[in-house]
Amino acid sequence: MSPRKKERGKNFKYLMLTILSVIVLGAAVWLVIVKFEGGAPLIELKMEDPYIGAEEQISALVRDEKSGIRRLRVAVIQNGKETVLMEQAYEKGKAAQGEGKKSFTININTRRLGLSDGRVDLRATARDDSWRNWFSGNRGYIEKELVVDTVSPEIEVLTRQHNVSQGGAGLIIYRVSEKCQKQGVSANGNFFPGYSGYFDDPDVYIAFFGLAHNQKTDAEMQVKAVDRAGNTGRSGFYYHLKNKNFDAETLRISDGLLSRILPGFENVDGFPKGASRLKQFLFVNKDLRQKNNKALLASEEKGDARMHWSGAFMRLPNSARQAGFADHRTYVYKGEVIDKEVHLGIDLASVRQAPVPAANTGRVAFVGRVGIYGNVVIVDHGFGLFSVYAHLSRSSVNEGQMVEKSDLLGYTGSTGLAVGDHLHYGMFIHDIFVNPVEWWDAAWIKNNVTAKLEHVKSRLNNR
Ligand SMILES: [Zn+2]
Repeated sequence: MSPRKKERGKNFKYLMLTILSVIVLGAAVWLVIVKFEGGAPLIELKMEDPYIGAEEQISALVRDEKSGIRRLRVAVIQNGKETVLMEQAYEKGKAAQGEGKKSFTININTRRLGLSDGRVDLRATARDDSWRNWFSGNRGYIEKELVVDTVSPEIEVLTRQHNVSQGGAGLIIYRVSEKCQKQGVSANGNFFPGYSGYFDDPDVYIAFFGLAHNQKTDAEMQVKAVDRAGNTGRSGFYYHLKNKNFDAETLRISDGLLSRILPGFENVDGFPKGASRLKQFLFVNKDLRQKNNKALLASEEKGDARMHWSGAFMRLPNSARQAGFADHRTYVYKGEVIDKEVHLGIDLASVRQAPVPAANTGRVAFVGRVGIYGNVVIVDHGFGLFSVYAHLSRSSVNEGQMVEKSDLLGYTGSTGLAVGDHLHYGMFIHDIFVNPVEWWDAAWIKNNVTAKLEHVKSRLNNR
């Protein structure tokens, strides 16, 4: 063998050795980084509060970026006794790997599991497919203290009489036996939440509720309370619903009127620009009215949980009534009925640009333009009760500001869909417009609100 050949053989051996070491090293690195990775699985429970009822389903997620989930185990422990709720093995060990999440549901049937009301600990454990810990994998772990509550809340109605007219309002006071996630008066699909904090006893609630003008007098009403575990308690109460007749009026729409009012709405979203004047009027009078009514009622979502007001509400001074609450209006154009709408406030006319006072104490919830209602101010009187001042020429208050009864809010005008200078005054409770006439009446306030508050106060003090 020539020295050159010998040299080449040596180089070849070195090369092979180097390649081999790279392979071995690579395999070792792969084992440590990939097969022996140390990242633990993550378990997440999707629940807001710890209260669970007789039957509960808890949504959960498990995730393991590197190896994936191999085993999952969920158990509850009460008084030192452990009961397994689920135990699952994932054959290939690849569940929920990478970005993937494995969602699962934990079913707890407290009766079948023999759990009693009170504290119970939920424990979920997941193992991944890593070779660590003698091939048993990394362990992810979550423990949550739960409270089993299978008892429905009890409701004690503290007020006796509830006489409510169509379009009118009522007040009920009741006591609930435990803290609830939701409680209030349910009246034919509408829900009026109660508020605590008026009385010393924090479990006593006040709920103002309204009967829609078109609600039948055989409406079903009850107080309902749902506790934090989801148990529902219900209580009936004595009530008397009265029919009320509302005025009907016919409004004749002339072409002259249309050319005066329609230009003001041309820039409103959805206005049918190329359509006939009749179609344009119907868009404003029907579609926009509906949308604007909803916009007014939207203030209730951030309403104050305090009762700001007292005594009778103030009516626009020295004013004449032009239209009443729930007037049923029929619109006639060229001899034909084109629309029917209900007027959800009272129109009051005084001198032009008359100062508009706040009807009662409250917080200014809204100032701005609302389609057919023009410039609007809404005052939040608390506990779900609001007053609306529409068609103003201008407003002189800011949102969030507190106002006292009779404080200046702005001046009357004819902005929006208004013929002539007047104030459209409306009131609503949560999402129902109610008749302002009741709230202007000192005797009605005394009988239906003040007397009840005083009666319950003395009843609670004498316990
Ligand atoms: Zn009006």
